[in-house]
Amino acid sequence: MTAEIEISRVTKLYGQFRAVDDLSLTIRQGSFVSLLGASGAGKSTVLRMIGGFELPDFGTIRIQGEDVTLLPPYRRRVNTVFQNYALFPHMTAAENVDYGLRQERVPRAERTERVREALRRVDLLHLADRMPQQMSGGQQQRIALARALVKRPAVLLLDEPLGALDRKLRSQMQIELKLLQRELGLTFVFVTHDQEEALAMSDSIVVLRGGRIEQQGDPITLYDEPATAFIADFMGKQNLLAGWRVPGSAAMTLTDGTRLVAERVVPETAAAGEVYGAVRPEHVCLSAGEPQSALNRLPARLAASVLLGDAIEHVLLLHDGREILARCRRGGPDLVPEPGSNVWVHWPPKAFSLLPYEDLGTGITRDARGVRA
Ligand code: ADP
Repeated sequence: MTAEIEISRVTKLYGQFRAVDDLSLTIRQGSFVSLLGASGAGKSTVLRMIGGFELPDFGTIRIQGEDVTLLPPYRRRVNTVFQNYALFPHMTAAENVDYGLRQERVPRAERTERVREALRRVDLLHLADRMPQQMSGGQQQRIALARALVKRPAVLLLDEPLGALDRKLRSQMQIELKLLQRELGLTFVFVTHDQEEALAMSDSIVVLRGGRIEQQGDPITLYDEPATAFIADFMGKQNLLAGWRVPGSAAMTLTDGTRLVAERVVPETAAAGEVYGAVRPEHVCLSAGEPQSALNRLPARLAASVLLGDAIEHVLLLHDGREILARCRRGGPDLVPEPGSNVWVHWPPKAFSLLPYEDLGTGITRDARGVRA
């Protein structure tokens, strides 16, 4: 693995506050890496330190082996695309793209060629003479991208670049960006708070929480094998059932004594005492009668059903008032009950994990032993 960026034990303080806390991270050359986390997790601060807009208080940052910790932004082979595009309103698209090259005193003939090439990359050569305000949000975003690419950086830093686009355009741009990154073989470091976006685009996702890395890995690992209840809850929809570990086994019990069996137990899970069991809504099945052969089964009442297009999401209430979500494919073999009816929910041990208990704040309360969706 060739390391493009190596962040070693970096801390960023704002007064006494640790926005980034002793963080180490290696980013592989040519990879698409997302920094994912809730607002305030430290994503932008990490990005700004890679770009040179903030200096760390401790630790070092290397780009292509060179220690750039104290270098100003223009001395680093990185470029940043900001959410607000930061285009010059009085310049045409081509002039915006050309600006950085003029600053660097690149000869005119070369500049013309590189600007054309960058605009062609983002499919906007035909709008080269337009002013930014004559372009749509998506087009402005692509101009901002062309302006960053024209400087041929080794690394492109993208700070919520799709945040201002509507849903449809956003998913279109996600695909375009991903294809562009593959084609150019550049390293992209992408900041987002949107889990679906990170799952769709990344080779690797780094989930930040309170200035630290909570978990990192490829999208499938993060989705299927969350290391903590926080990740399980944060990456997509999840049913988290609080209960007690059956000592010495991969099973837990609920307050009423119901036993639930898991196939996966995260190593840090307490050998006894409180734990979480996690099952994704897409693995929860419904049946009208008690499914005697299912190892994990609970009686429930259907509170509501929500149409999601190709699937239906059922909101079910367990006897103790906890909620559990089940997502069923439409037209599939699953039961389609009427709201208010009594059913059974069940799921296989292979779709169930035991995770360390932690207080996840509002939404999952200790007392209610609530299921969180
Ligand atoms: P994110 O990008 O994940 O939303 P940021 O990296 O922007 O988070 O911020 C991390 C934390 O640092 C937040 O709590 C934020 O309020 C704080 N912070 C960021 N910049 C500054 C600053 N210039 N001065 C003081 N606090 C800051």
